[in-house]
Amino acid sequence: MQTISSYDFKGKRALIRVDFNVPLNDKFEITDDTRMRAALPTIKKIIEGGGSPIIMSHLGRPKNGPEEKFSLKPLVNHLSELLGGATVKIAPDCIGDEVKAMAEDVKPGEVLILENLRFYKEETAGDEEFAAKLAENGDCWVNDAFGTAHRAHASTAVIAKFFPNDKMFGYLIESEVESLDKVVKAPKRPLTAIMGGAKVSSKITIIENMLDKVDNLILGGGMKFTFAKAHGGKVGSSICEDDFLETALNIEKLAKEKGVNLYMASDVIAADAFSNDANTKILPIGEIPDGWMGLDAGPDAIEEFKKVIEKSGTILWNGPIGVFEMEAFAEGTRAVGEAVVEATKKGAFSLVGGGDSVAAVNQLGFADGVSYISTAGGALLEYLEGKTLPGVAAVRGE
Ligand code: AMP
Repeated sequence: MQTISSYDFKGKRALIRVDFNVPLNDKFEITDDTRMRAALPTIKKIIEGGGSPIIMSHLGRPKNGPEEKFSLKPLVNHLSELLGGATVKIAPDCIGDEVKAMAEDVKPGEVLILENLRFYKEETAGDEEFAAKLAENGDCWVNDAFGTAHRAHASTAVIAKFFPNDKMFGYLIESEVESLDKVVKAPKRPLTAIMGGAKVSSKITIIENMLDKVDNLILGGGMKFTFAKAHGGKVGSSICEDDFLETALNIEKLAKEKGVNLYMASDVIAADAFSNDANTKILPIGEIPDGWMGLDAGPDAIEEFKKVIEKSGTILWNGPIGVFEMEAFAEGTRAVGEAVVEATKKGAFSLVGGGDSVAAVNQLGFADGVSYISTAGGALLEYLEGKTLPGVAAVRGE
């Protein structure tokens, strides 16, 4: 398999699939360029190696063909700035003769952005003819869009067959996959997964898959109330999924069978309203009266979680422990974050992933203290669930 570090880009047009799906305001200004910055190491490496990056991305969800509001044009100047003034051009389309001619014309060190891939429904359909036309614009293919790696789209997977010997991961995917493998393939023990967030239903597959791998599973967030109710506890108006009571009991049974230590909050911070100014009290988890709801882990639970985390060799954290967006209910998430940072300082590998966990880690200021933050949502969860990602498999030739 080729790698971006060792591949010779000299004189080559490198088709890079990136995720430049950045948010734009109503003046078409980029309001968060994190995704563009994330692809810079790959783009720079190609330029430094004497090649020409030909950038492919989607932006937004265009429905029927080209729509000006989903054009990648607003990204051109910003990418040039991020690359220290490099020449960045944009093609009027992503396939076709004119685009092909522009791609052939591009000089070493110059960048060409192809117009939004999703102006063609063939992109998401994974159409092979469309992939072949995209492939005409480059000499090699670099997949650096981990966020879409769980999709078998034309530019993220199908295109691979046109570059049997000239395909590779970009640095972003490479580090995502390497970091995730430190958790799923060869973790330093004990491996602790901290699962939080709102619902059991959205995390069930990943929890089940994790039970085969982890030594400790900490369940925080709103999902613990489904477990408490399944045991006949009173959860008041806490978030609870009545359709998943059986599932919760089954997870506990599986954990026992597989020798996984399951930790769930013994006490909670309950509130009389979903509000930062609500009245609060500390209650045992299954004893929440009507009109009250559990919005964060209580002090006993936090102490227990911290002890487990601080002794861990590998930590996977997905989902906040409480409603961290409100200061009154942020303590559980903050304390867990502090424990993860402490464990990392002592040599543990810690990976935080999933949209809300990343927001929590950033908001509470722990981003620099953890080993790796994955910004990929669906792709990350599917990888952790044990699924093969088409965008990864296509590069590896699996
Ligand atoms: P998820 O997208 O499933 O990871 O859920 C993240 C959301 O779960 C965050 O917005 C939290 O505010 C929310 N959350 C965490 N704990 C609770 C709780 N006890 N009750 C309701 N929502 C919660």
